[in-house]
Amino acid sequence: MDFTFTDDQEMLRRTVREFAEQEIAPTMMEFDEKQEFPREIMAKVGELGLLGIIFPEEYGGAGLTYIDYVIAVEEISRVDGSIGIAVAAHNSLCSNHIYECASEEQKRRYLPKLTTGEWIGAWSLTEPTAGSDASGTRTQARRDGDDWVLNGSKTFTTHGAVGDLCVVFAVTDPSKGKHGISAFAVEKGTPGYRAGKKENKMGLRASDTSEVIMEDCRVGDDQLLGKPGEGFVDAMKVLDGGRISIAALALGMARGAYDAALKYATEREQFNKPIATFQAIQFMLADMATEIDAASLLINRAAWLKDRGMKVNRESAMAKLYASEVGVRVCDRALQIFGGYGYVKDFPVEKFYRDVKLCTIGEGTSEIQRLVIARDLLSRV
Ligand SMILES: Cc1cc2nc3c(=O)[nH]c(=O)nc-3n(C[C@H](O)[C@H](O)[C@H](O)COP(=O)(O)OP(=O)(O)OC[C@H]3O[C@@H](n4cnc5c(N)ncnc54)[C@H](O)[C@@H]3O)c2cc1C
Repeated sequence: MDFTFTDDQEMLRRTVREFAEQEIAPTMMEFDEKQEFPREIMAKVGELGLLGIIFPEEYGGAGLTYIDYVIAVEEISRVDGSIGIAVAAHNSLCSNHIYECASEEQKRRYLPKLTTGEWIGAWSLTEPTAGSDASGTRTQARRDGDDWVLNGSKTFTTHGAVGDLCVVFAVTDPSKGKHGISAFAVEKGTPGYRAGKKENKMGLRASDTSEVIMEDCRVGDDQLLGKPGEGFVDAMKVLDGGRISIAALALGMARGAYDAALKYATEREQFNKPIATFQAIQFMLADMATEIDAASLLINRAAWLKDRGMKVNRESAMAKLYASEVGVRVCDRALQIFGGYGYVKDFPVEKFYRDVKLCTIGEGTSEIQRLVIARDLLSRV
């Protein structure tokens, strides 16, 4: 067992940290206030190789590991969760669905555009009436000659409006329940495909979360990803990897809030002493640091298993459940340490506090993670 990162991983961490502090931090509040997706910053994230980090070089990717990916998402999110979720959704949902489930021809068609950041990827499973129970998908895909015709609407799609390619799930055989749901790659500009309402969110406001609407949207059979009827099963596999990145997103924000609170506690004086000398503040910092470390260990174990192609269903759910709940607790305590200054937008913890809450909801709520973990535990009895 080895708890150290390699020299290359330490260098990756330094590179991404510098990038995030220089290129993202100066304007992140502006984008947050305007609720605008920062396209130019995302292009730079792409130039750095972070939009294809886990994919082989033959598809234009950086060919790095899931551990490297966790480091990158964590360091970006330590500065800004909106870019963090953009990197996570693009890599481990859209691109990874194509990488893990598509044909070789489809991989060659789509991945080079995604891995370089020329295209932004979206992945659209959730519907207004099918959230935690995604098997209740109602969007339909009807066979028509050599094509498929899609009708229905999706909600809460990250990059639903700004995305260039969306992996969409639709029912192809209503008689087969969750084994009758298939995945399709739909390109922006396809007639009958459009974004609907853009959500006005409490946090991650520079990230685009929108409805996706399909009205007689015709796609070729060569846009069906994987076997017909296996889209839902593939989605669950993709989420096993995605959840590690949402855990890293939460961890990054927790670290950002903790670092800010630690510094503030040594600078802010009350009763003629730095507030860090009060045991109440020290205990909060100690709990925050301990929980951050524990979350990091769970995340890196899941990433390590994923890198070895081992089963990661329970471990990724544990990492996501724990790290997201820690993220919420740590950001809450950080805000408390800042007192009134934590409640205003001049310091970063107000934004972390709003942004981090998504992590207990997206890619399966905390309750659903517990179901996944319990199902695995009971299957071994
Ligand atoms: C900012 C943002 C970005 C998102 N990005 C994407 C995306 O890119 N693609 C995508 O497909 N989706 C995306 N989502 C959707 C997200 O995955 C869903 O919101 C989530 O899965 C929960 O579904 P729901 O909102 O419909 O809640 P519901 O399923 O209605 O849940 C409501 C409550 O009931 C609880 N609950 C439900 N079922 C059970 C159960 N069996 N046992 C115990 N408790 C239960 C839940 O835990 C929750 O507390 C995004 C959501 C947000 C907010």
